[in-house]
Amino acid sequence: MSFAATVLTLYPEMFPGPLGISLAGRALAEGKWSLDAVQIRDFATDKHRSVDDTPAGGGAGMVMRADVLASALDATAARNPGVPVLTMTPRGSPLTQARVRNLAQGPGAIILCGRFEGIDQRLFDARRIEEVSIGDYILSGGEMAALTLLDACIRLLPGVMGAASSGDDESFETGLLEYPHYTRPQEWEGRTIPEVLRSGDHARIAAWRKREAEAITRLRRPDLWERHGGTPGRSPSGAR
Ligand code: SAM
Repeated sequence: MSFAATVLTLYPEMFPGPLGISLAGRALAEGKWSLDAVQIRDFATDKHRSVDDTPAGGGAGMVMRADVLASALDATAARNPGVPVLTMTPRGSPLTQARVRNLAQGPGAIILCGRFEGIDQRLFDARRIEEVSIGDYILSGGEMAALTLLDACIRLLPGVMGAASSGDDESFETGLLEYPHYTRPQEWEGRTIPEVLRSGDHARIAAWRKREAEAITRLRRPDLWERHGGTPGRSPSGAR
């Protein structure tokens, strides 16, 4: 069974967008995942097809209506039983590689994309919806965040990346940032590829990569480093 992605949005024309090319596009054409972009406005009931209204209590902008979104969500969930429902929002839990991997192993995702100031709180109180953020900054809508989430999931689906690259080694999979990469030419602007990478000694190469990954994580992401079990200024292997 392929991964079923359903996106609820005011801009279905944004999908598949970048997910229609390269790895994800090929996988979509091969049926490794499916995409349904649902127009939220189709569930509006008034003659203006309104999906939003002014914020209760005053203030700038508009708020997406709970009743319209619930109709869209319920109809979608009924067609996709057991598929988790997420909404992209800056106040959600930060998206992690662990959550992405977990989603990719499941039946798919129903993703609600916010616009305007956000969504009437009563929708979250009345329905089971996981709130997910892709970072501490504000986008103009949830569509780009949904594309990001889907891209991260799709590349992990069986057969999408190919046998050569399992993704197991990548940043966050090991709890660390990744070690540096090099390729030919051997010398560029007076800089050479580290000797160890040309040694053919796989054990030495693995040890070097581990040390580099530890060093870069300690330097750039002390939060990850501590979670990995390192203490500030010192790597778990005592390398630096
Ligand atoms: N008023 C909201 C706030 O201060 O948190 C921001 C609303 S934003 C302009 C409109 C929509 O973009 C949100 O409802 C959400 O769906 C999406 N969005 C914006 N930033 C996001 C982020 N960092 N992660 C996930 N979704 C985001």
